[in-house]
This record gives sequence, C-alpha cells and structure tokens, in this order.
Amino acid sequence: MDWIESRARLTPDDIAVVDGDTGTELTYLGLHNQALKWAMFFKTKGVKKGDRICLVSENDPIFFEVLFGCAKIGAIFVPLNWRLSEAELEHIVMDCSPSLMLYSADFEPIAKSLSMLIETISIEQNRLDSFNEDIILIQEDIFEKDPWMMIYTGGTTGKSKGVVLSYQSVNWNAVNTIISWGLNKEDKTLTYLPLFHTGGINALSIPILMAGGKVVIGRRFTPEAAIAHLNKHQITIALFVPTMYHMMIQSEGFSRTSFDSMKVFLSGGAPCPLSIYEFFAGKGLAFKEGYGLTEAGPNNFYIDPKIANEKRGSVGKAMVFNSIKIIDPNGKEAKSGQVGELLIRGKHVFSCYWNNEEETLRTVKGGWLHTGDLARKDEDGYIYIVGRKKDMIITGGENVYPLEIEHWLCEHPMVDEAAVIGIPDEKWGEKVTAFLTTKGNKKCEVDVIQRHCLRKFKNFKMPKDFVFVEELPKTHVGKIDKKSLKSLWYMKGN
Ligand code: ATP
Repeated sequence: MDWIESRARLTPDDIAVVDGDTGTELTYLGLHNQALKWAMFFKTKGVKKGDRICLVSENDPIFFEVLFGCAKIGAIFVPLNWRLSEAELEHIVMDCSPSLMLYSADFEPIAKSLSMLIETISIEQNRLDSFNEDIILIQEDIFEKDPWMMIYTGGTTGKSKGVVLSYQSVNWNAVNTIISWGLNKEDKTLTYLPLFHTGGINALSIPILMAGGKVVIGRRFTPEAAIAHLNKHQITIALFVPTMYHMMIQSEGFSRTSFDSMKVFLSGGAPCPLSIYEFFAGKGLAFKEGYGLTEAGPNNFYIDPKIANEKRGSVGKAMVFNSIKIIDPNGKEAKSGQVGELLIRGKHVFSCYWNNEEETLRTVKGGWLHTGDLARKDEDGYIYIVGRKKDMIITGGENVYPLEIEHWLCEHPMVDEAAVIGIPDEKWGEKVTAFLTTKGNKKCEVDVIQRHCLRKFKNFKMPKDFVFVEELPKTHVGKIDKKSLKSLWYMKGN
C-alpha cells in the first residue's frame, strides 16, 4: 500500500514536490524519509491504525509528508478547508474526532480555538530532527479497503460530508488517470487548487507522484503567477477551475505565452463556459472539461484532446476502470439524447460517508454511486453534464436545466458570468431567474439580454427575471453559491 517507499527506491533523487513560492524541493527519498519521521512522531503520540489526523495549512509540501506518514501506520489523513469559519471547522472536528490536528503558523488562532477539543500541534515548532529514518518503524498491516484519507465535500448543496477514501479508491483513480493521459516520470503538474480538496490532491498530484513525475504547488492564485509557473517548470498537465481559467485568459500573459510543454489543460469542479474553449483552440492548445466529485475519483472521463474541441462541452467517455450509466426516473437506462441521473461504478468510488450510514445507503445502491448530477449521452457515446438534479427548475410542469441557459447568457459579449435558479412562484411553480455580472461591471440594459435570450428560448426556458449583480456569490471552493443567490433575491425585497 505504501508505494512512496517503492518510488523512493526506484527514483530516489528525482524531485517529487516543489514549493512554487519558496522554491524548496523535495526528492522522492526526501519525501519518503519525512513520511517515516511523521509516522514515528504519530506513534510517540499514541496514534493507532484508523485514528484521524487533521491538517490545516495552505498548500505546502507538508500535505504529502503527512499523507504518506499516515499510510505507514494506517492513520486517516483529514485535510481541512482553512477558508471555513471557526464554527464550520468545529463541526468537522467534532464529526471526525481526530487524535491530533497539525497546523501551520498562519492558522494559530484557529488551532487555539480548537485546542479545547483536540491536541493541536504547530508544524513549524515541532522538530522531527530527532527521528532517525534508519530506525525501523514497525509498520501496520494495511489492506486495499482500509481508509487512507477523508475529505469533506464543498457543501454546495447542504452540510459538508466526510467522504472516506480507501487506498483502493485513491490508487485506482491514479491508475485511471495515468493510463488516460499516458503520465510518466517526465510529467509535471502545477496545483493552485487547494490540497484539502480532492481536485488539488487526487485529480493530478497523487497520479503524478505514482508515475514518478513532479508536483509544483502554488498558494494564492493569481493568473500571472500561474502562467509564470507553467512556463518556469515546463508543466505538462494541469487542472484549474473555470473561474481560474476565466481570469487567466483575460490576463496579458496568456496571449503572450505559447505553453509549448503543455499536453493538456484540464478544467473541473464546475461547469465550464464554452467560450473558454475558444481561447485554447485559438492557440492550438488541448483543453478538456473534466467532471468529478469527491465521492468518485475525482477523475471519471477521458476524451482524446484532438476531438475535445469538436465535442465542445462534453466530458468524454468513461475511463478504463470505470463504468457509468445514465438512468431515467424509473431507473431504466436513458436513450441517447435523453437527460437522466449519472451513475458511476468502479474501484475509485468512495467507501462511505463518515458517521452517516443513512446517506451512504441513499447514495450507493447496488454498487452504483448516484451522483445527483444530470447528464446525457450523444449518438457517439460522449457524455455531457447537464447540471445538478437539485438545481433543475420545474416551471409550468416543464423541466429546465439551468446550465443550458447559463451557457447561452455567457455567449453575449457583455456578460461575464451567469447563474440561473428557480424562484418559487404561484403561477409557474418556479420561475426561471437569471443573475448576471457584466464584463468590467459595465451598465447593461435588461432588454439587451432579453433580446439575446429570445433568439434562443421562446418558451418556458426564457428567464422571467434578470438581475444584474456586481459579483456572483461563491462557495469556499470557488463554485457559484446558488443557495445564497436565492437569499439575495429575497433580500432585494422580492
Ligand atoms: P456537496 O456535495 O457538499 O454539496 P460539492 O458537490 O460541491 O458539495 P464536490 O465533490 O467538491 O462537492 O463537487 C462535485 C460536484 O461538482 C459534482 O457533483 C457536480 O455537481 C459538480 N461538477 C464537477 N465537475 C463538473 C462539470 N464539469 N460540470 C458540471 N458540474 C460539475
């Protein structure tokens, strides 16, 4: 299970992790030794197999040291979202009842407030020097189905849930990814996505380490810094969320840079506006929209970059060790073109929700993960994500998928971002309501956007109301927060 030891044996002097901000590098042997020291430290603290260890830190090589340290003794690694409020973190800590919480200097106030509940340990003040890696650590017997990490979901649709990922889930996601993109030790990735989120740690970082490549990490995202790192480190594959791409393509550096080393740019975590494809196609660069969730992978689909532009908006076809199906409301397999719920099955799927058997049983049935997302398949078998089931609007008895309207709104040259929600309405049941931001926050009249929409939607899909806002509310992981939009509608006196 502990494959970092094998990597250290195979490629000891190759660089595994680079801290993009400080330039500090960690070789595979260095990473393995640090993991051993953490494991010994945890043992001195009485940590046993199955115990949880929390970490609160900005992106830092420490994530990988502690993750692989946990693997040596069978502890469960629980990275925490530092953007959460004290109360939210308290909820998570109470939920997972860890043995220890490690924190970096910036998070001392949070650690202080949580120290009533758990033992908190400063990473900077804790010296591991006394641990000699030559001492043989008595390793635990660890099996494929044992839990390795627990990641709390973004909480976009409700309370955040602890997703338990076994060695099997994490490793098969990596194998799927390595096979799909042909990753090897020459590959390098850059992650500005937070390492406490599955997009930061599992999407590419773990697969690249398994393949023996290099992971460059960045802390606070700016388009300029990201473009500079992509160039400097000759990155070959990277994942950003659509908001980050949105910022990158508007920055001056983007048009000046050719990104020669890049095999493919991946987008994920949220729907990607179709206009973003244009910028990459214009530069002859491969761009692919990915779809994933903490409970599965997160990597699920692959598309040959040569046809990704032609199949714009499709996430591709299921990866090698992954099965998917789309079902109608009666549980029957949907026909091509028909929208239904997306189900996923494979070894990369999570084990369970922590402390929440009821939700696990609701989500996984007969081995299939019910994603709660809607999708359709085209006649060639390519999958398109249509949106969340919970976001679907029923207006006058008709189903409306907000994403279709959001994509069209963003096609208007003045529109920057768009979000469509259903507002309870006596006549319609729900009425389609669009929230918009304009480029540079320029003033735009409602009838301009209305005319644009009428070109495409003549009937029930046509938004009844358009609301211009300076900024769309976003969740802690940068997704549009539709729950807050609903409150905003009522706060505006409607
Ligand atoms: P919670 O489960 O707590 O509500 P969350 O769904 O945001 O939070 P994540 O696991 O981070 O938790 O996100 C997974 C979700 O992100 C998917 O279920 C899907 O709704 C959305 N998503 C991911 N990729 C895409 C995509 N390419 N297009 C549309 N939606 C996407």
